[in-house]
Amino acid sequence: MGLSLAQRLSSQGVQVTLFERERQAGGLTTYHDYGSFWWDRFYHVILSSDRNLIGYLHEIGLGDQLRWSPARSGLYARGRMYPVTSPWELLRFPLVGMIGKLRLARTILTCNRIRDWRVLEAVSVEEWLIGQCGRRTYEAFWKPLLLAKLGEQYARVSAVFIWSYITRLFSTRDTTAQRNQLGYVAGGYRTVIRRLEQLIQAAGGTIRLGTAIQAIVPAPDGGFSVHANGREDHFDKVIWTGPIEGGSPLATQGLVSVGATSGPIEYLGVVCSVLVTRKAVVPYYTLNLADSEIPFTGVIGMSSIVPTKETAGLFLTYFPKYVPSDDPYLKLPDDTVRQQFGEGLRKLFPDLQEADIVALHINRAVKVQPLQVLHYSTKVPTVATRHKDFFVLNTSQFVNSTLNNNAVIGAVNEFVQAHGRNFVEVSNLSQTGLEPARVS
Ligand SMILES: Cc1cc2nc3c(=O)[nH]c(=O)nc-3n(C[C@H](O)[C@H](O)[C@H](O)COP(=O)(O)OP(=O)(O)OC[C@H]3O[C@@H](n4cnc5c(N)ncnc54)[C@H](O)[C@@H]3O)c2cc1C
Repeated sequence: MGLSLAQRLSSQGVQVTLFERERQAGGLTTYHDYGSFWWDRFYHVILSSDRNLIGYLHEIGLGDQLRWSPARSGLYARGRMYPVTSPWELLRFPLVGMIGKLRLARTILTCNRIRDWRVLEAVSVEEWLIGQCGRRTYEAFWKPLLLAKLGEQYARVSAVFIWSYITRLFSTRDTTAQRNQLGYVAGGYRTVIRRLEQLIQAAGGTIRLGTAIQAIVPAPDGGFSVHANGREDHFDKVIWTGPIEGGSPLATQGLVSVGATSGPIEYLGVVCSVLVTRKAVVPYYTLNLADSEIPFTGVIGMSSIVPTKETAGLFLTYFPKYVPSDDPYLKLPDDTVRQQFGEGLRKLFPDLQEADIVALHINRAVKVQPLQVLHYSTKVPTVATRHKDFFVLNTSQFVNSTLNNNAVIGAVNEFVQAHGRNFVEVSNLSQTGLEPARVS
């Protein structure tokens, strides 16, 4: 969000400074050093329906780096893996009866017909899906998917989640060449992040990595003083694109109210084990798990869509486990996670030998998925705030969409359309010495 916003505004002549707490840009979309290659720290793919994102990749000159591969999905239940990609495979899926399958199809059609998603905010996703499909189909099909995406917290999430998930998955581009395919950018998201860094710097912007903002203080004569790394800088305008937490740099100055009425936004964190192997582990991009003994909530076979020439001839498989952002699991030592992970791995893939494993990386993120609880849209911070020159743009504002980079670019597009002119005007005035800027 911060990088694309900085790129967009700086390309319009706004003088931008981007603050990033980590030593590497990209946030959750960032890359990771897997030894002999770089790839995304957390698994990412692009859907053919991601129009905002695909349009943006073309705009920044990476359209010709987009690659597409057929995607397959599977479900693990009762000690077996079942393919569930095509309608034909779904028809043969033995754990749901024929009536359940018809109701499954009807649920997808119903989702595609619902225009006013707000009606789903009052009902839990579990209750809604059971109402649509019956308990048996819910337990066999939907619950593993909810667990893979949300961990045990799925029970508190509203039906908007499944509506936005299904409508995103089933909306396709007009040109259907990439229908049912998943996309990535050659070189992974590292290619995108590095391009954005270059474009921002080429347009005169500044990127300050390893710089956590400690305070944003409104200045008496207008604008803000931003405190970070023992230094204070003045900016005319600030946009905050990180999560908002109690005690954050924003809350202390009363710029936005954190949890004034309904409590702060709750986030899920993720512990994501990434296995690098010499042979393919799983033929599916997503394998949902209906087995409560397995210590992760899903399996993502990245190498089922990304050819191994991108990953030094090796295979990459991600094993996420989503938990609340204050769950002690996020703080477990790597060795404990490794041990639990090994037990699950042996159960799922008994043929995988020790000699096939090159490395196991354990990555964590604390604030990942805002938890879209009942009536979520009434709880999120607004883009425009109490201060006319301070804005918030973050993923907690996605009230009718899942967490994804297509929605991120959509939010940036809307922001630039609504407020970009103000930034450009202030920028033109800054010939007088003021430095207009924005903060991520
Ligand atoms: C496991 C996983 C799988 C995913 N899969 C997909 C996928 O397949 N497709 C897809 O489109 N999306 C996917 N996503 C979602 C995608 O990563 C997010 O949409 C995107 O990263 C959101 O970007 P953001 O900038 O809004 O937030 P973030 O990436 O969280 O960035 C916020 C930034 O703010 C910085 N920050 C916070 N506080 C401060 C401070 N005080 N000072 C300075 N900097 C600060 C943070 O360090 C961070 O870099 C996935 C995410 C995860 C975790």
